[in-house]
Amino acid sequence: MPELPDVESFRRYFDATSLHQRIDDVDVRNAYVLKGVSGRELARRLKGRSFESTRRHGKHLFVRADSNVWLRLHFGMSGFLRYFKGEEKAPPHTRVLFVFAKDYRLAFDDQRKFGEVGLVNEVDEFLKKRALGPDALDIDLAEFKEKLARHRGAVKSILMNQRLIAGIGNIYTDEILFHARIHPATQITRLGNKHINRLFAAMRHVLEKAIEYQADVDRMPQSWLLPQRGKGGKCPRCGRGLKSSKIGGRTAWFCPHCQRRAL
Ligand SMILES: [Zn+2]
Repeated sequence: MPELPDVESFRRYFDATSLHQRIDDVDVRNAYVLKGVSGRELARRLKGRSFESTRRHGKHLFVRADSNVWLRLHFGMSGFLRYFKGEEKAPPHTRVLFVFAKDYRLAFDDQRKFGEVGLVNEVDEFLKKRALGPDALDIDLAEFKEKLARHRGAVKSILMNQRLIAGIGNIYTDEILFHARIHPATQITRLGNKHINRLFAAMRHVLEKAIEYQADVDRMPQSWLLPQRGKGGKCPRCGRGLKSSKIGGRTAWFCPHCQRRAL
């Protein structure tokens, strides 16, 4: 499921491929992903225009068109972008296809259809309406502490709560907690100042590095949890077997030896 590093990679990909070209057509192949807009309206607002700039907040990507409307993309469970020449085949689960002048196309592919494509007039207004917290890479240590201090629950669930901090999901919380050596089920109220500082540093480090690796597990160092995360995986630090556990309805992977539960 695309999280902050994945969506940031999509944003950079969009910037590198799809800005400043005339949009000749918007081909909606499956209207299921459209949210709050019809296929006809989407085409009407974008045809003849061009995309000018991008902005990411948490797991949302916004693209400003020169008609002063923003295209909103959320990648759900399986969404991604692909830019290609007209003669090539579109990816198999293309839901919306943006056709540019000179016959280049950008596909929004989303096999599982949890993604969302919409239009917004004001990004900040949209973020407020969704009650999304600040982006995980925009938040400073003081704000991070303040947010955590006002909540109760398992540290993993808190980090994944988009209303507190936007951008981190099931996969990257595991990596962050592994780096911070904190057990995912630890109650947030049990974490002292030292642990919170470590958690914040791990969050920034993991997200920034993961963006550098283009959110690609194959590029991640073997000292990370993600290349090992799953059944039969071994802790890259101590070599013992990783364990999983359900926390807040999601499966957490961790090393029970390196990530001890605070008493
Ligand atoms: Zn270990």
